[in-house]
Amino acid sequence: MSDTRADVDVWTGGCLCQNIRFQVTGEPDYPHVCSCQHCQKRGGGPMQSWVGYPLEGLRWIGDGGEPTWYDTFPGETKRGFCPTCGSHIAAFDYGDSTIGINLTALDQQDDPRLVPVNQSFRGDAVPWLAQVPDTQHSTTS
Ligand SMILES: [Zn+2]
Ligand SMILES: [Zn+2]
Repeated sequence: MSDTRADVDVWTGGCLCQNIRFQVTGEPDYPHVCSCQHCQKRGGGPMQSWVGYPLEGLRWIGDGGEPTWYDTFPGETKRGFCPTCGSHIAAFDYGDSTIGINLTALDQQDDPRLVPVNQSFRGDAVPWLAQVPDTQHSTTS
């Protein structure tokens, strides 16, 4: 069966143990890192990295189906992780048309469109790591 949508980008990814696998399509939206307290606590590091994709293109294609969701802001935002290996995979704002994907969950991370263009919650950032510069205004093309 031929793919008649060859012009649509298809991205895959998943968790460390491969229990949770996903596919998203389209142009990556606003890759950025975030050093908010939720990202630090849940990620186990000084920041997490995020990129958005259209929700309509999201498919959970692994044996584990959807990740386990945890409401970081009940009724507003939830974060998805693998219940087996603990990998962080996604974040979703209820009602949004975009799914936030952890950059680290993607299979291919070398695409220049995935280079973070900004850092959120700079005030919460650790002082011992350089911050990602805000380049979002220089990326118009
Ligand atoms: Zn896993
Ligand atoms: Zn954050």
